[in-house]
Amino acid sequence: RVKTKWATTRAKFPATALALQNFDATYSKQLGDVWPSVRVGMLSEQKYGALMNTFASPDDAISDLHSRGCRDFISVASSSDDGKNSHELLQKSELHNHAATVDTFETATACTRISSNIQCLVFPRGDISRFKPARPGNNGLLGYYLLDAASVLPVLALDVQPGHTVLDLCAGPGGKTLAILQSQAVRFLWANDLAGSRTARLRRTLQSYLPKEILRIIHITSFDGRNWRNMDCTFDRVLVDVPCTTDRHSLMEEENNIFKRARTKERQKLPLLQTELLLAGIQATRPGGEVVYSTCSLSHLQNECVVEQAISVARREMGITLHVQDLGSFIQIFSGTFHFAPQTATGVLVLPHLCANFGPTYMCKLQRVS
Ligand code: SAM
Repeated sequence: RVKTKWATTRAKFPATALALQNFDATYSKQLGDVWPSVRVGMLSEQKYGALMNTFASPDDAISDLHSRGCRDFISVASSSDDGKNSHELLQKSELHNHAATVDTFETATACTRISSNIQCLVFPRGDISRFKPARPGNNGLLGYYLLDAASVLPVLALDVQPGHTVLDLCAGPGGKTLAILQSQAVRFLWANDLAGSRTARLRRTLQSYLPKEILRIIHITSFDGRNWRNMDCTFDRVLVDVPCTTDRHSLMEEENNIFKRARTKERQKLPLLQTELLLAGIQATRPGGEVVYSTCSLSHLQNECVVEQAISVARREMGITLHVQDLGSFIQIFSGTFHFAPQTATGVLVLPHLCANFGPTYMCKLQRVS
């Protein structure tokens, strides 16, 4: 028998196995009966969406994708609900009664406006076809960007309006930054990420998708988002898409896996880092403006707990009042495309499911009142 060399150095417990063990212990409690089906989804191939690049005049790409059965999940959802305008939906959400679970802050009725310009095409439920790589159009810009379609939802929740200034605090590698710009409403966008390698990738991505006049309204930096309080500017909209346990990646890839034993401390400190980043995002939001917090984890500790902690610290230590905006209408509008968790104390959670294998994506929207 030949002993392979790597057998002596191979990790006894791969990080992916440690991640599964951890998720089995925590998510079976958190999600109960739903966990086995979410688990199967997360261990299977993820589904993508094609974020169309309106700056590339992607009509040919859209026709091609339509002929393969793809549909824009945003306009389909909008048109099925109001009947009059296929692209825009203005819907008053019902107030969820959070009082029993969340007594430390107020909730508010929100107007959910679905941006008329962002288009994201997906294959129908249960169809696991793959997209071809995007090709450049006549002007040399790529026709679409492939991403987990659920990660467009935090951008829709951000509800960027014409003339708005936007901060994307943890922007690399840039999928959501690109989606924000597809709204064609941004006056100025600041995209930041701590990692220089990620901002470099973000810059390359934006150059492949955006014309020069749009690149001019974007400012890219690489600094620790927690230090935002030292900056003297605020924004109409702030996206805080934090580093998290990236649950799907942690189950499938050894490389850069946060469940490696050497990264245990880093993993345990994630909720603290996430809270600090959200607090920085809150400080960067102008009074009256809105901040969206998002993760790609199912973890209650990284989702609702972070939001609740940030709201109470902001009020106690910074004198900032926040209203949690109700996103219940997203569940109503997009349940034809995504599988949502039945109840969350704050925000909404997209659950992976074999028939709609997007997510996990958690998002919560806060309005800064003072
Ligand atoms: N929004 C991105 C997108 O849609 O492509 C994904 C963001 S990813 C979930 C989280 C990012 O946070 C990583 O790129 C990571 O480098 C960055 N990050 C980690 N710590 C940070 C910090 N202290 N300040 C700013 N960014 C940070």
